[in-house]
Amino acid sequence: MVKCNSCNYEGTNIIVFECPKCSEKINRCNRCRKISIEYKCEKCGFIGP
Ligand SMILES: [Zn+2]
Ligand SMILES: [Zn+2]
Repeated sequence: MVKCNSCNYEGTNIIVFECPKCSEKINRCNRCRKISIEYKCEKCGFIGP
């Protein structure tokens, strides 16, 4: 099961994308994407919208 990096929600409607800075995989759920919760890359600390 994939987990959202922003809110720790676990589920199936999670989008995986790459950190623009270090290409680490980042998971974000539909909800966080919709309300533009910021995400943080755990590898390089990049914070993005
Ligand atoms: Zn989320
Ligand atoms: Zn990164």
